[in-house]
Amino acid sequence: MITFAGVKQGCPVRKHWAATGTNQERHPAQHHKRSIMANSFQELGLNSYLIKAISELGFEKPTPVQERIIPDLLSQDNDIVCLAQTGTGKTAAFGLPSLERIVEHNLGRYTQVLVLSPTRELCKQITQDLRNYSKYLPDFCIVDVYGGAGIEPQIKALKKIPHIVVATPGRLLDLIGRKAVDLSRIHTLILDEADEMLNMGFKEDLDAILESVPQEKRVLLFSATLPLEVEKIAKTYMQDAQMVTVGERNSGSDNVKHYFYMVHEKDRYAALKRIVDYYPEIYGIIFCRTRRETGDIASALIKDGYDADALHGDLSQMQRDQVMKRFKNRHLKLLVATDVAARGIDVNNLSHVINYNLPDEVEQYTHRSGRTGRADKTGKSIVIINTKEQSKIRRIEKIINKTFAQAKLPTGEEVCSKQLLSMIDQINAVEVREDEIAPYLSLIEEKWHNLSRKDIIKKFLSMEFNRFLDYYRNAQDLNIVQEKKKKKGEEADAPAYTPKRGEKGFKWVKLSIGTKQSITTRHIIRMMTSLGVGKRGIGKIEIRRSECFVNISANAAKYVVEQTNNTEYRGRRLWSEIVD
Ligand code: AMP
Repeated sequence: MITFAGVKQGCPVRKHWAATGTNQERHPAQHHKRSIMANSFQELGLNSYLIKAISELGFEKPTPVQERIIPDLLSQDNDIVCLAQTGTGKTAAFGLPSLERIVEHNLGRYTQVLVLSPTRELCKQITQDLRNYSKYLPDFCIVDVYGGAGIEPQIKALKKIPHIVVATPGRLLDLIGRKAVDLSRIHTLILDEADEMLNMGFKEDLDAILESVPQEKRVLLFSATLPLEVEKIAKTYMQDAQMVTVGERNSGSDNVKHYFYMVHEKDRYAALKRIVDYYPEIYGIIFCRTRRETGDIASALIKDGYDADALHGDLSQMQRDQVMKRFKNRHLKLLVATDVAARGIDVNNLSHVINYNLPDEVEQYTHRSGRTGRADKTGKSIVIINTKEQSKIRRIEKIINKTFAQAKLPTGEEVCSKQLLSMIDQINAVEVREDEIAPYLSLIEEKWHNLSRKDIIKKFLSMEFNRFLDYYRNAQDLNIVQEKKKKKGEEADAPAYTPKRGEKGFKWVKLSIGTKQSITTRHIIRMMTSLGVGKRGIGKIEIRRSECFVNISANAAKYVVEQTNNTEYRGRRLWSEIVD
């Protein structure tokens, strides 16, 4: 294990425009009138050209990684190793200061910055992001080069002498060999998703590139995880690197909640369907372990009527682009993908990531779950496991430093209700074009004259809904809840206790905590009031050794269970339910 020193001592402290407030040595771009006052990006010290562009993208305030490293990158020269997940805003974190420095070098027309990334998709995404940020920089030029595409057009593009080259290692090495790219004057080298580059076998290519670029440069290394190989790269090619960890090391984004569902192996696909059906608005990626599994699951979903498709390495680049286009346009709601195929894809606002099967390398889970919960959004990362896979969950918990909640697959009835309500919401949201539909109204009335309003509604909804009713008519409970082994004489062995009749208009909510955990009525009242239940909504409370019963007004009881069941309370799992 290498230890990273703190900020490099004695390195020249660079000009910090916003902080100095002087116009000396500024590029004309910096004189542009600052359109947004007292914006926190401005406080970080970015020039107004960049601020204008990112404001137009809707960036209101810096994300934690940006807040953490942009000031350092603007004011110091030190190398940085940054452990940050995808979706944290790291592209802007390294991109904006790099653009600043290019402006500071008067937008001189030579390649100043090199970004290395593991995949073509990530290259394209980084390039697009940097193009967006640099929209107002005059004559700015960026070129991306990657494998799997013709090399000639890339050689031609490089002849423009871009300020920034974004590349995959293999293709860049090829271009260096052909003397198509001049990296002799770069001042900044960025290794993005370094762990992925090494996972993908780019170690030798990376070594060769790092050997061939100038010694005098700043290196920024971004990685979601810190395996030994990444530490080795840092040790060999970086000087006194400052280590920055955003969030906890290797931990998943705080915006992502992690759940697992435990089922018998034979029920895995049925469980997937149940999860997908329970979230009618789902927009997510389903991760599979192999290309074959990816193809099989996508085919099964398509056959069962879902807007799904597969993304894996057997597809041609054109097919992949088509699938991605449909997914980005939301014509596809579910993308079934292998880890390799999904790398670098830039889709925001994913509501769910579903691990149909966990990856062989559990570390890969971080990358999967990082596809959701991006920027300020929240997301769910779901894992379907069989009874033998629980240990994997525990291992992942250690890596991401977060706990998984065991979730219960909904019953058929719950799925059907959810679907029905969603259909009604969709119908309510339909825009009726009165003028255009008017000529057809008499025809419609004639066709439906013998049907009541209720019948029409029922028929209308049944059109879509029958599929769910048919499928879920005799739906089994697929959940496996591993009972804890009970010790002889424990309270749990006694017949289930139910309290005496409660107050009128109230329901009993049972919570899995009691005097054994030193719970008192005050704790319960505090818990309920923190959930927003007023004192009048809380009735009798009965506390037993390892459970307690709270009388909650009938209209709030379900809400209380939703908020408390399968959550954490004082470091232990809390279960709750309404008992009759
Ligand atoms: P990245 O981690 O670079 O892939 O960024 C994830 C997403 O967050 C991208 O879609 C960015 O456009 C977006 N993003 C980055 N920084 C900000 C910010 N400060 N405010 C809002 N969105 C951001």
